[in-house]
Amino acid sequence: MTQGHSTRSVADHAALVDRLIRTALSRRGPDTVAVEDAHGRVAHTDLRALIDVPSFRNSQMDGYAVDAAAVAEVPVELDVTGVVAAGDDGGDAHVPGTARKIMTGAPVPRGADAVVPVEDTEAVGGRVRIGRSRRSGEYVREQGSDVRVGDVVVPAGTRLEARHVGAIVAVGHASVAVRPRLRVAVVATGAELVAPGTEPGPGCLYDSNGPTLAAAAIADGAEVTVRTRSTDSAEHFAAVLDDALTRADVVVTSGGVSMGDFEVVRDVLGPRGGTFGHVGMQPGGPQGWTDLDGTPVISFPGNPVSTLVSYLIFARPVLRDLAGLPALRPDDAILVDAVRSIPGKRQFLRGRRTPGGITTSGPGSHLVASLAAADVLVDLPEDTTEVPAGATVRVWPL
Ligand code: AMP
Ligand code: MG
Repeated sequence: MTQGHSTRSVADHAALVDRLIRTALSRRGPDTVAVEDAHGRVAHTDLRALIDVPSFRNSQMDGYAVDAAAVAEVPVELDVTGVVAAGDDGGDAHVPGTARKIMTGAPVPRGADAVVPVEDTEAVGGRVRIGRSRRSGEYVREQGSDVRVGDVVVPAGTRLEARHVGAIVAVGHASVAVRPRLRVAVVATGAELVAPGTEPGPGCLYDSNGPTLAAAAIADGAEVTVRTRSTDSAEHFAAVLDDALTRADVVVTSGGVSMGDFEVVRDVLGPRGGTFGHVGMQPGGPQGWTDLDGTPVISFPGNPVSTLVSYLIFARPVLRDLAGLPALRPDDAILVDAVRSIPGKRQFLRGRRTPGGITTSGPGSHLVASLAAADVLVDLPEDTTEVPAGATVRVWPL
């Protein structure tokens, strides 16, 4: 992809961005985090049980610990030799032909081999009447019946949800090795940009791309370590970039990559080995990438729709994968109205699901409000020129 002449396919550019970002993250070793902080992180290695779980035989019910032989014929009355609560040690060994009152989770006394749930019993003075017989092992949770020392509880690559956190704590871990989280720097460029909450002067507008890209990267599991803006001055952009490089694994820029007079990203990064050119898509045709000593700079065009579509197509899949998030899958959907598409370009239209099918909004890549109203991207292949109303198209969730 040279300065604007050749055109790359969306798939080729996506593969390139994928490789650059993956390689950048692979240079970092795993993090070790306390289990309290492990939620949402991705297991670096297989997490194995450090202890048997349960770690001791215990009761599955509130009831009476017995030997099954003593309750083979019912009803039967047995002497009650005491009470074992959760947190007690097992106490004295069980005497065959007696019962011990036991609570859920309490250790089953040595020699007892079944628990009769309290619902099938009746206290009679210091004795208990057992109304139902139980086989050996019933309502007894054996040591290691859930997992044994050394068994894999959570495989490497799993994103740790609440249930995984519970399991790794239960098997004895206090901390866990997790994949490093991708650190993303977002740099929006444009002399016209102002920060939210300030008064835009003549010719100026709010930087919406920066917050959009940051929100998208966070939603896709990355850590946004730099959010900044640069003017169209080469010195300013170079300084902002050099700072971003020290704090991020990947830098994402918006604006300054097309064919105007003040294309600061292209002007600064071109001489530093950057490649700028066209990808066969609309919106989002002008794209750039630079490998700055192993830190990739992925450069998107500045129109807000182009920026977000570029992010969704090129960055979202790899970010989600690195964060252990499931890949988003396209659906088939019916188009309400006919649409046209430019031959030779993969076209992404903003669409909205309605009961009658997908409606699409106009092509303008500056239309932020129509982007907010959309909930899908309609993906039209390169060779498509027209799609009639009622046709089936491929849509991606937004
Ligand atoms: P550029 O790609 O720099 O030529 O920008 C293309 C268009 O997108 C211009 O109309 C810019 O004003 C607009 N634009 C660029 N950056 C941003 C941004 N961060 N937020 C909102 N609009 C932007
Ligand atoms: Mg610009």
